[in-house]
Amino acid sequence: ATPTALLVGTGRGAQLGILIKGPEVLESTRRVDTVVLDKTGTVTTGRMTLLAVHTADGEDETEVLRLAGALEHASEHPVARAVAAGAEERVGPLPGAEGFENVPGRGVRGRVEGREVAVGRLFDEVPEELVRARERAERAGRTAVVVGWDGRARGVLAVADTVKGTSAEAVRQLRALGLTPVLLTGDNRTVAAAVAAEVGIGEVIAEVLPEDKVDAVRRLQREGRVVAMVGDGVNDAAALAAADLGLALGTGTDAAIEAGDLTLVRGDLRAAADAIRLSRRTLATIK
Ligand code: ADP
Ligand code: MG
Repeated sequence: ATPTALLVGTGRGAQLGILIKGPEVLESTRRVDTVVLDKTGTVTTGRMTLLAVHTADGEDETEVLRLAGALEHASEHPVARAVAAGAEERVGPLPGAEGFENVPGRGVRGRVEGREVAVGRLFDEVPEELVRARERAERAGRTAVVVGWDGRARGVLAVADTVKGTSAEAVRQLRALGLTPVLLTGDNRTVAAAVAAEVGIGEVIAEVLPEDKVDAVRRLQREGRVVAMVGDGVNDAAALAAADLGLALGTGTDAAIEAGDLTLVRGDLRAAADAIRLSRRTLATIK
C-alpha cells in the first residue's frame, strides 16, 4: 500500500467528520458485507421521555411514579433518566434510595422508604392488565418497564425514544453499498422490530444481554460474514473491538470510542456509509 494515498484518505475522513485511528484501519473495510447497528443511542437519539403510566388494579399511580423515579435517579441509563425526569415532573421532589443495584440489560433494584423496589425486566409474574399495557406500548415501538415493590409488579411505564432523522437515509446508503444492515439491541424484540421497520432494516437481533452483544457479532463472523459494528454505549465496547471494523459514535461513551477503529464525530449514521465509501475509494487509488 502507498502510505501517501492512505494518509490522504484519513485527511478526507477528518473533513467528513470521521476520525480514523490509523491508516491501516481502511484496509479492514474492504471486505465488510454486514453492518451491525446498536439501537439505543445509535439508530435512535437515546434521549427518551416518559409517555405513559399504567397501574395494576388497586395501585396508586403517584406511588408507582415516586418509587420508580427515586430508584432510577441513581442510574445513568437512558430509560432511567426518562423515568426519573418524568416522575419528578409529575409528582414533585423524589425520596432518596438506598442499596442501589444496577442489573445490566435488565434494570435496577434498591430500597426506597423501606420498600424493596425494582424497575425494568425483573418480575417473573406480571398481572394480566399490565402485560396488555406493556404489549400495546411495545407494538408502538416504545420501551416498557415494569415497576414493583415487595415482590409485586404494580405498574408499567412506557418510554419513547426517537429514531434519528438521518438513520433511514443512512441505512438506504449502506444497502446501496451492498451491505446488509442488522439491528442489535438489549431491548424487547417487538420494540426492536418496530424501529427496524421504521428505518428499513430487515434483520434483527434483540433481547441480547450487554455481555452477549460480542457473541452476536462473533456468531455472524462464524457464518462467514465480515462485520462492521456501529455503537455508542459501554455495552457496545466489546462488540466494537471484536468486529472486523468498529465504528464508535463521537456522541457516545469513552469506552466505545476507545474500542472502535473509527469515530463518527457527529453521531450521524450517514458518516458510516461515508467511511466505507471513502476507504473503498482510497484503496482503489492504491491498487
Ligand atoms: P440497548 O442494547 O438498546 O442499548 P440495554 O442493554 O442497555 O439496551 O437495556 C436493555 C433493556 O433492559 C432496556 O430496554 C430495559 O427494558 C432494561 N433496562 C436496562 N437498564 C434499565 C434501567 N435502568 N431501568 C429500567 N429498565 C432498564
Ligand atoms: Mg446504545
